[in-house]
Amino acid sequence: MKRLVTVVTGGSRGIGAATCRRLAEDGHDVVVGYLRDADAAEDVAEAVRRAGARSVCVRADTSVEADVERLFAVAEKQLGPVTGLVNNAGVTGPFGRLADSDPADLRRIVEVNLLGTLLCSRRAARVMTARGNGVIVNVSSAAATLGSPGDYVHYAATKAAVDALTLGLAKELGPDGIRVNAVAPGVIDTEIHARSGDPDRPERLAASIPLRRAGRPEEVAAAIAWLMSPEASYATGTVVRVSGGR
Ligand code: NAP
Repeated sequence: MKRLVTVVTGGSRGIGAATCRRLAEDGHDVVVGYLRDADAAEDVAEAVRRAGARSVCVRADTSVEADVERLFAVAEKQLGPVTGLVNNAGVTGPFGRLADSDPADLRRIVEVNLLGTLLCSRRAARVMTARGNGVIVNVSSAAATLGSPGDYVHYAATKAAVDALTLGLAKELGPDGIRVNAVAPGVIDTEIHARSGDPDRPERLAASIPLRRAGRPEEVAAAIAWLMSPEASYATGTVVRVSGGR
């Protein structure tokens, strides 16, 4: 039987790493995409192998077309035809009001969160359309519908664009047998908060979350894994919120 081969962008940490491990348990061979931390990516690939799946790490900036080409080319060469894509790589940039933001940060956030998702989806759609099947899951954010005033309206705007992409691409590719969905995590305990200058964010916001705690990466990975699976065979164009009620 042909193996499932799934590319996970930003697979070296946080939600992406948990997704790689979970998909391996579900029988996917996994391409661990990463940007900087080769050691972390290799640790994730090792965990995938320990679960009995094949894995390869590829350094690829998702906002750069040539990198995306290479990501898929290496995947196909080493593991076989790509059957799934999880568009997980994302950045928030520094917290603050839009008026105080640096245009270089705004450009980077749009390039990684939106252009990167578009480029990877475009590349996946080409191979999947030719084959007549495939699954794409985008990692959006609850911010897309909360707006995130004072924190990062720019980030929220890119994630709302990802939701629109999810809907449109699902309709475009449905007749080709390809499903496209998204998950919208709330506050999840990963390094993304420290990297944007607010390490205590998950703890601080817990009281404002109906379930009274931040989520764990594995809880988001479970929703991604369901959308990737045949169990979700009639789900496309939807955004599954995994936000503790926020
Ligand atoms: P994280 O811990 O900061 O990990 C981000 C991952 O993305 C890392 O593997 C990083 O690679 C990779 N990455 C960053 N820029 C990249 C680029 N240009 N090209 C390729 N890879 C890149 O983040 P996370 O919290 O797990 O978030 C994952 C996704 O969930 C993001 O899309 C984020 O917006 C979304 N999300 C997170 C939360 C949350 O509270 N954590 C909430 C809602 C949505 P390196 O480590 O190699 O740099």
